[in-house]
Formats: sequence, structure tokens, C-alpha cells
Amino acid sequence: SPIPDYLTEVLDTCTADVSGTVADYIPELAAADPDRFAVALVTADGTVYSAGDTEHAFSIQSISKPFVYGMALDRLGFDAVLEKIDVEPSGEAFNEISLEHDSGRPLNPMINAGALTAHALLSDDASPHARGEQVRSLFSDLAGRDLSIDERVAASELTTTYRNIAIANLLRSYEVFFDDPEDVVAGYVRQCSVSVTVTDLAMIAGTLANGGVQPSTGARVFSRPTVRQVLSVMATCGMYDAAGDWLTTVGIPAKSGVSGGIIGILPGQLGIAVFSPRLDRHGNSARGVVAFERLSHDMNLHLMDAP
Ligand code: GLU
Repeated sequence: SPIPDYLTEVLDTCTADVSGTVADYIPELAAADPDRFAVALVTADGTVYSAGDTEHAFSIQSISKPFVYGMALDRLGFDAVLEKIDVEPSGEAFNEISLEHDSGRPLNPMINAGALTAHALLSDDASPHARGEQVRSLFSDLAGRDLSIDERVAASELTTTYRNIAIANLLRSYEVFFDDPEDVVAGYVRQCSVSVTVTDLAMIAGTLANGGVQPSTGARVFSRPTVRQVLSVMATCGMYDAAGDWLTTVGIPAKSGVSGGIIGILPGQLGIAVFSPRLDRHGNSARGVVAFERLSHDMNLHLMDAP
């Protein structure tokens, strides 16, 4: 098949881009090899194409957010979740302390305030290990193989996560949730530390592309309405404060994370993932953005183009 050659060519043409810097506010992420670069595509019927450092594992970080939001939606229903987390783009940085004025309701599930709240909606048992295990198991179902939590990354983030502790305390004070804020943060940090490869991420994205059914195992992980809700929120809020720029240039729902991953979904057709640790000023993988622009252009992925 010519597709792997094409993917290798995409990587080759983007490798020259050494702009940006590796995230360093989590000590373990600062130790990442900045030159790693990988891409993977999964079709809705489960065929995988990949190139580059496809075996390299990294922590999922914020790419976990849409899926934990999806799990909360399937567990509690739309009304109960919308009451706690709005769906308006904030245009602000992911760790902004931005809550709705009177209610304290987070603006959307992709910023940390909303992600911490979605995490707290996963179960009544607030123990970080129980919720961490719930999330690990969710991502294993989405990836179609058993994944694990990178304990080094989790321990490392816990030592520096003062800002998330502050956000969680505010959420607790507004009674958005009633759990111990430190437990919520510790569970959320475990959520962010699930270890994946670029191929896992493409499979995880492929499950959304396939309407919630994992393309290789055939297991239904999310209901169809949940998939639609998750993809809609990704389209408007998935790329930090560059979400508008991304939607106009690349044109598909996406989510990025500070470890350097980006996933994108072409509904009904394709899950895409790219990994490269240097981040641009918005916190998105610099090479990842360029690679996605190229893929979108070459394969006509932009959803706003007439067929
Ligand atoms: N665990 C990270 C944090 O909350 C995730 C951030 C991200 O990937 O945007 O700071």
C-alpha cells in the first residue's frame, strides 16, 4: 500500500520544523526526547497505517479529557452533566481559572476546570485509585489493548500541580462537586498519566470516528449521542486557545495534550494521531499541527469543504 510511504514522506517534510519547546511544568515531561515523531491513521473498519516512532509510549495528558467527559455523559445523561459543565469555548488557556460567574460552572470540559469536574462525575467513590482504574480501563477498551498508568509521570505531576489544586478548591467551594479537591486532582493526574503510543491514540480516535464502536474489537464503548456531543465540543474547544485557527485550517474535531500528542477525527471515516513533544505557544505540538495541516490538505479532510 502506498499509504505508509505517504505517511513517511509527511514526517520527513515536517522533521525540519524544530520550533517550540517541550512542556517543562511537569518535571517528567521535561525529560522527553524532543525529536520523537510519529503518525498513525485508523480507518473506521480498523485498518491501521503508521510511520515514525510508533512504539514510543508517552502520557495521554489532555487528550484524555473528551473521553472522560463522554464517560460521564453515558453514565449520568446529558442534562445532569450539562448542569455541571457548560459547552462554550473559553478562548483562554487550558489552566485558566475561569468559571461562570454565579454558578462556578466550568465553561467547557476541555479546560482543566471542566476536566476536573468531568473526572469527579465518573463515580461516587472519590478514591484516586478507583477513578484512575476506571479511566485506565476505559482507554484500554478504546485502544483495544490493555494500557497502564505511568506512575512516574503521575508522581511527577502531583509534586507540581498547585494550580489544579487551586481550581479544584474553587470548584468545591462553588459546590460543583463535593469530593475532597485533593482526591479529585490526584485521580485526574492518574487519568492524564495513562501511557499510550501514537497507534493507541489513532485507535482511540478511530472509535469516535466509528460512532463509538471500537474498530478492531467491535465493542461499543460510547453511545452515538455521546460521540456527537464529544466531537462537537472537540471541534469548538479541543485545541486550547487555537481552536478557531485549527478549525479554519485543518477543519476536523481534535484534541491535543501537553506531552505532544494530537488526535483528529473525520466522522465515519478516520481516526488520526500525531506525536511530537515540542509545543507551540498555544501548547499544541508544533510539528503535529503542521503534519495535520498537510494531511488535511492532501486528503481533503476539511469538514466545511463541499464534497
Ligand atoms: N495534566 C496536565 C494538566 O492538567 C494536562 C494538561 C494538558 O495536556 O493540557 O496540567
